[in-house]
Amino acid sequence: MDICEMEKSSFIDYPNKISTVLFIKGCNFRCPYCHNSHILNSKESIDETYILTFLENRKKYIEAVTITGGEPTLYNELYTLISKIKNKNFYVKLDTNGTNPDMLNRLVQDNLIDYIAMDIKTSFSEYNKVTNSLVDINKIKKSIKVIKNSNIDYEFRTTVCKELISEYNILDIAKHLNGSQKYILQNFRDGDTILGGINKYHSYKLEKLQEIKCIIENSFDVCIIR
Ligand code: SF4
Repeated sequence: MDICEMEKSSFIDYPNKISTVLFIKGCNFRCPYCHNSHILNSKESIDETYILTFLENRKKYIEAVTITGGEPTLYNELYTLISKIKNKNFYVKLDTNGTNPDMLNRLVQDNLIDYIAMDIKTSFSEYNKVTNSLVDINKIKKSIKVIKNSNIDYEFRTTVCKELISEYNILDIAKHLNGSQKYILQNFRDGDTILGGINKYHSYKLEKLQEIKCIIENSFDVCIIR
């Protein structure tokens, strides 16, 4: 398992906590709007002992660790890494695309995780198109169930990009996630590191997203546009 980047302190990745962010190399999806394309095939690797020592030395300033990617649950070693971080008494947040419900379940059951953010890419019937991958949709559904049935904090989030996600898709997702804690409409932002190339995909107008949010927000405890 390669930790290919580390952001020493972030104020935005873990809700209401300062966290160190660890980026895990590789992903089983190829979403064209992915802004972490450099993480998917990175050649960098940071030594785990260096990271654990860094965390130990920064305990006074950092409360939490966010593990993101790529897709961290591709690796069985994730369980051991998180165990080591929890042993040092940090809060742990995991970002995932939901393709490994068994890993999520183990982490939840063993009280090794404090916050999960799961991407919901689109309507279940259109996952292959948006992710450019063959997706076992039952695994996505199982992850949603594991997360909703847990008693930890969580969010579901959808990157909304005009070319790939329609208003119908968002309403459909909201229907399936009905009763969840938090749902985030994450507007697409263009940039140099977009997997499908710069200037190809477009964000939604804020007014349109606000209109959609008004329709779906009662399905959730919290619904946010980001
Ligand atoms: S957006 Fe997330 S799930 Fe999609 S390719 Fe990028 S890292 Fe993987």
